[in-house]
Amino acid sequence: MTKYLSDLAKSLEPYVPGEQPKDKKYIKLNTNENPYPPSKKVLSAISEAAADLRLYPDPDASEVREAVAEYYRKSLNLGKTEINVDNIFVGNGSDEVLAFIFPAFFKGKKIAFADITYSFYPVYSALFEIPYEILPLREDFSIDVEQYKNSLADDIGGLLICNPNAPTGRALELTEIEEIVKANKERLVLVDEAYIDFGGETAVKLINKYDNLLITQTLSKSRQLAGMRIGLALGCKELIDGLNRVKNSFNSYTADRLAIAAAKAAFEDTEYFDGRRNKIIATRERIYRELCNLGFNVIPSAANFLFAEPSGISAAEVFKKLREQGILVRYFDKPRINNRLRISIGTDAEMDNMIETLKSVLKS
Ligand code: PMP
Repeated sequence: MTKYLSDLAKSLEPYVPGEQPKDKKYIKLNTNENPYPPSKKVLSAISEAAADLRLYPDPDASEVREAVAEYYRKSLNLGKTEINVDNIFVGNGSDEVLAFIFPAFFKGKKIAFADITYSFYPVYSALFEIPYEILPLREDFSIDVEQYKNSLADDIGGLLICNPNAPTGRALELTEIEEIVKANKERLVLVDEAYIDFGGETAVKLINKYDNLLITQTLSKSRQLAGMRIGLALGCKELIDGLNRVKNSFNSYTADRLAIAAAKAAFEDTEYFDGRRNKIIATRERIYRELCNLGFNVIPSAANFLFAEPSGISAAEVFKKLREQGILVRYFDKPRINNRLRISIGTDAEMDNMIETLKSVLKS
């Protein structure tokens, strides 16, 4: 490490994203990307927007915010007092949105999150020097809702919940989320809904009911735009104003012109969205059963991945052998989960190939 590095940078343990290999073509089931391309309407919106690339984009991404508000008003049957443009923030992927949330709401406080959850939370905690407390999931990887409601230490100023959780795929009911938010009025409750469209119920309709609820979402998973980098935060106007204070102290143009055009079109093309989302859910349920038949212990999933434990062979071994056969899944060498694989849901053909390869690995 160079001697010019700050003590803070030296102390960091950066997040390690899932592999994006370049050595050969793999079936990629390791980063929960969508196996289907963006809709034709999204692609043509992007090419139209390209004509204006010499101009800076709208720093407020107003068109995206309007499209998101409209989408939720229609799909959740809400009025303008329940969701409007003032309740929406747009960033360069939800990782960036999270990176704004930490200094905006957690700096100077202590936060809490599960032991098994999105591994970027401790990384941001370290980067922004925010201490955290770990709330262990129960034996079956479920969240102890009573603990979240009743027994958090007084000095905890922020609570992070990934719903559905990654990498487990387990989701809390909306009523449970609401009970937690209600019971924690003195702290901000952040609900990371990166995977919500695959089976959970979004808490969006609660954002103007509770001023301590902030939601993050991404267009990287259910809306096929991981390569575009677009994420959202949804909350009451005061929370969104707070986020904008940090954003405008860092980078006013978080979303570029192509991303704004793509995100708007993706939220408008509800037919394409629903069709692909439902397809992924159907494939997931089929593969859940297939994995169970192969002797895997699989957690029922509300996300676009399955978290599965093999029997008679270690997960590390299965991971290695699948990789040799050109299939990438995710393996976390961490306590409690080091005998599980997180398998993203691909197309039917990709998943059939994965299952056949697994069968040969288990036989060998
Ligand atoms: N939250 C969770 C739980 C995730 O798994 C991811 C994807 N790795 C993100 C947020 C960030 O997604 P993106 O930056 O692509 O929006």
